[in-house]
Amino acid sequence: METRPDSVKRRRQLRQKNSLRIICPNCGNDHSFFEVADGVILTSRYTQNRDGSFSQDGDESQIMGEVRFFCAECNEDLTAHHQRFVEMLF
Ligand SMILES: [Zn+2]
Repeated sequence: METRPDSVKRRRQLRQKNSLRIICPNCGNDHSFFEVADGVILTSRYTQNRDGSFSQDGDESQIMGEVRFFCAECNEDLTAHHQRFVEMLF
């Protein structure tokens, strides 16, 4: 696989500038990501109100399968950074 030297240089600069940020090594994206979970069981609790309407009471979701993490710009698999993402999720 060939890599253009200018893009390598740019990536290195980005990494040094802010080493705590997750940056896509493929396209340099550092703002937009998505997470994909396999085998998710979604369980939502509801309370029925006096007028017959419902209010959501809680949300208990269980992930049975694998969770993967991707760059939203180029779809590069960034699962290796997923743990970091979870730690920084507030
Ligand atoms: Zn990317």
